[in-house]
Amino acid sequence: MRKKQFKTESQKLLDMMINSIYTHKEIFLREIISNASDAIDKLYYRSLTDDSVTLKKSDYKIEIEINKDKGQLIIRDNGCGMTKDELENNLGTIAKSGSFEFKRDNDQSEVDVIGQFGVGFYSSFMVCQNVKVLSRAYGSEEAYLWESEGIDGYTVTEASKDTNGTEITLTLKEDHGDEKYSEFLSEYKIRHLIKKYSDYISYPIVMEMPKEQLKEGSESEYETVYEKAVLNSQTPIWKKSQTDVTEEEYAGFYKDKYYDYEAPLKVISQKSEGLTSFEALMFIPSHAPFDYYSKSYEKGLELYSSGVMIMERCKELLPDYFAFVRGVVDSADLTLNISRETLQHDRQLKVIAKAVEKKIKAELLKLQENEREKYERFFDAFGSQIKYGIYEGYGANKENLKDLVMFVSSKEKKKVTFKEYIASMKEGQNAIYYASGETVDRILMLPQVEAAMEKGYEILLLTEDVDEFAIKMLHEYDGKEFKNVCTDKLDLVSDEDKKREDEENEKNKEMLDYMKEQIGEVSLVKLSSSLGAHPVSLSTLGEMSVEMEKVLSKMPGADKSILKAETVLEINMSHSIATKLKLMYISDKEKVGKYAKILYAQARQISGLEVENPREICDLVCELM
Ligand code: ADP
Repeated sequence: MRKKQFKTESQKLLDMMINSIYTHKEIFLREIISNASDAIDKLYYRSLTDDSVTLKKSDYKIEIEINKDKGQLIIRDNGCGMTKDELENNLGTIAKSGSFEFKRDNDQSEVDVIGQFGVGFYSSFMVCQNVKVLSRAYGSEEAYLWESEGIDGYTVTEASKDTNGTEITLTLKEDHGDEKYSEFLSEYKIRHLIKKYSDYISYPIVMEMPKEQLKEGSESEYETVYEKAVLNSQTPIWKKSQTDVTEEEYAGFYKDKYYDYEAPLKVISQKSEGLTSFEALMFIPSHAPFDYYSKSYEKGLELYSSGVMIMERCKELLPDYFAFVRGVVDSADLTLNISRETLQHDRQLKVIAKAVEKKIKAELLKLQENEREKYERFFDAFGSQIKYGIYEGYGANKENLKDLVMFVSSKEKKKVTFKEYIASMKEGQNAIYYASGETVDRILMLPQVEAAMEKGYEILLLTEDVDEFAIKMLHEYDGKEFKNVCTDKLDLVSDEDKKREDEENEKNKEMLDYMKEQIGEVSLVKLSSSLGAHPVSLSTLGEMSVEMEKVLSKMPGADKSILKAETVLEINMSHSIATKLKLMYISDKEKVGKYAKILYAQARQISGLEVENPREICDLVCELM
């Protein structure tokens, strides 16, 4: 019999299928099972209004049979089936297959299309040398057999079949090299694929599974028997009402799926009905995965279309700053056949992503308010990500994220939000004070911090690299500017003190300039009245703080000569050292220069900065002893 030709588009697609890379090939089973499920759906919906359809919901099933001898995989459904015309029209041309579009001029994207989304029935040619489709439409007595070996066409012939539905017989290709098509003849492989891609198909998928059992009458001899088993769990946990699922069940699902030994900190379940309806089940892990802050971590939610998995990690569904969220989104409004390119612009996907983001934020705020201890655990694990989110993209998301941020405060050494900080501000205070350093203890030892605390001010203590960058990006919260107590001009000094300070600096200008010149790398040396009991301290001029210098100079390829904070050596004008220096300047000017270098080195160390010339400083100390 003369073979009929596939339509041109179909031929190209077939070609692409047959030559696709091996790892993507397993999705053929998902595609065939989805079609079977759709066919049953069609008949089931008809039965709701058409009394002549006598099948009950419980009668519907999908069967898989493995014939190892013939190298065949057979998939049967008792759905609507296809007439002769339908076989021709549906399987003879790819154009029928929904909204499938693919780029012909870009190999990479073609491969992605297959791997991530599949392309329906045709994908079976990736693994088969021969495909037979035997089908009988519901209500018809006739059955037809469609058969093809791929690119050179297909035939449709009259056949016989006892019941309605479709039986697809896939004759697998021979193994060659690394491509082991025979693995699809293993019951365990098939069960694994069903679990992976088709676990939530709503009809039972039945197959005979091997089972070892003692031979009858024997105490030690085993034999393999085959027993029918349902391979899929059918109802996805996210489709169940939250009240019907126990905490343990959610935790079990999460742990299995995301390989975590610990239960999630928070389960977020979302159901949205409207133009784009979807269900989402999301989890906030209790701890950061070991690779979370590395390049190998991939964000994304698993994407399902009506219970069929179409993508394992859909990164378009999560903004970077919520990359820690794990979970699933299922929407009947998404088509299976969307390509990676169209996905990025997919309007519905964008709507879902937006709703999901809003929900995550709302749930985090709820946690912050109602379950503080849990929220702090969350923030310990993922706070850096949130703060980085504020800084990222020139602060594009700062408004959205600022309420999620917390810092340890100097008062109770506990984490507080900006709102809480402002609520407990001292009367007359109109800025949010912060200081940064390597650890909380180190910051508390900074002279300016000590002085501000003595005056009763609360200070936010910033200990992570990203902190000060995020704060600078925020600039203000609720009209209150952020001020670094070590660098910014604070109004902590009384007018009277300020006047005294100015006078002192004016009077000793010559000595201070001389010290600056001797130290070399400092921008200013000044006398200060706000250092408490400390003899010296380091502060900075301009935007870059000492902490920021440290962070930036740690980055690979950093040009240390440009990334310098403009440092200021402050000398406590009420400390005896100030008097000593002044006297020394009259009797032995050169000695003042030497002490200036030593004092500067000390001030740097107190701030946690490196001393660049420790050898010279040591020599100076020895010389002066
Ligand atoms: P898609 O499923 O995206 O429409 P396919 O190439 O997988 O594309 O299938 C083409 C069409 O063939 C389906 O839309 C359906 O009408 C028909 N079809 C495929 N498998 C079956 C089946 N098991 N029973 C009934 N019809 C089927």
